[in-house]
Amino acid sequence: MNNEEKKEIKIKGHVSRPLILKEMYQQGLHICSVFFGDKREGDCLFCLEILTRMKNESKK
Ligand SMILES: [Zn+2]
Repeated sequence: MNNEEKKEIKIKGHVSRPLILKEMYQQGLHICSVFFGDKREGDCLFCLEILTRMKNESKK
């Protein structure tokens, strides 16, 4: 994944494609703005926070 693609996903992801972020996380990548697109080693609190927030938003 090159940097242009990362930027693209980052912009679209936060606005309208939360499912892509979830998939990325499940594939072992960071979805947080801090380490976005990098490989995860174990859980990341920033990513988990984003997932939790997305879950809460979809409940409403
Ligand atoms: Zn992360």
